[in-house]
Amino acid sequence: MTSWKENAREVVPYTPGEQPKTKVIKLNTNENPYPPSPLVGKAISNIQLDSLRKYPDPGCSILISALAKYHGFNEENVFVGVGSDDVLAMSFLTFFNSKKPIFFPDITYSFYDVWADLFRIPYETKALDKDFKIVASDYSGECGGIVIPNPNAPTGVAEPVEFFENIVAAHPECVVIIDEAYVDFGSKSCVDLVRKYDNVLVVRTFSKSRSMAGNRIGYAIGSKELIKYLSDCKFSFNSYTMDTITLAVGVASIEDNAYFKEKVDAVIKTREWTKGELTKLGFTFPDSMSNFIFAKHESVKATYIFEELKKRGIYVRYFSKPERISDYLRISIGTDDEMQEFINELSNIIKGV
Ligand code: PMP
Repeated sequence: MTSWKENAREVVPYTPGEQPKTKVIKLNTNENPYPPSPLVGKAISNIQLDSLRKYPDPGCSILISALAKYHGFNEENVFVGVGSDDVLAMSFLTFFNSKKPIFFPDITYSFYDVWADLFRIPYETKALDKDFKIVASDYSGECGGIVIPNPNAPTGVAEPVEFFENIVAAHPECVVIIDEAYVDFGSKSCVDLVRKYDNVLVVRTFSKSRSMAGNRIGYAIGSKELIKYLSDCKFSFNSYTMDTITLAVGVASIEDNAYFKEKVDAVIKTREWTKGELTKLGFTFPDSMSNFIFAKHESVKATYIFEELKKRGIYVRYFSKPERISDYLRISIGTDDEMQEFINELSNIIKGV
């Protein structure tokens, strides 16, 4: 007798960062330390209870229209989903349907290999160089697709638009996904490549720069044809991905650009201060253009610092794999007060060794 297990899809899932129930200084999942725009609060209060009786708009038109206007594209160039994880997963399913391997960096967002395994997509990882930079020539071979975050995660290292344009132009036979989860924190967006190339998809999120990880809003900008393919797959899976409240709050966030800019600038300022303090304490790190710093101490082990910080109620992220990054900690940027406390405790830990 055969077991049902032989016919089941067995995967090793992605492990999200810890969400502790107690009050801690939470620097482990790259959330924004500031609340969303007050307009988001107003939009929630304005929701009519009766409106929840009905299914949400499957076309997500108010949010798509706000995003199209914000980026200067047509609505047919925009796709929205339940966080960028949903948009990325749907994009893998839609576009990475070749027998040839897809390419992505060896040190990168650790969901990519999970989706590749889930959808049975062959893949090859390309090693970052010793400074954690992406080696452009590694992406020149024939492949089934390419996905790269810019800035990369967990390194925080960004590449210029020309770097991506070269890759996109060299691969008309496949889709190149640029995951811009952290782009608002100081690097240049590749969104304008969409005006020139029909094989590039730029994926964005409200979770980081818009302080709305709890709402789950992600989106993609691409050519009309790419978006049509993506939508057809989505509508073959789940018509109602975005709920009525989320559509309204997403629009409210887009409408408050001044607030958005102010909070992004605050995070960048605190990040730069934190870089200086970490250097004084003996840490090295690739220069981050995101809302986190990926740092290694000259003598104290990352696992020790991680555990000691945790005992003091400060959570950062540690990845044991691959081996090359097992001595690094990924530290999300909090408020000035949180980062001051973090630096004070870090200093005590290091001096106490
Ligand atoms: N891409 C990268 C590089 C990320 O680090 C994250 C956050 N875990 C995501 C995408 C997904 O973010 P979200 O689903 O919250 O939009």
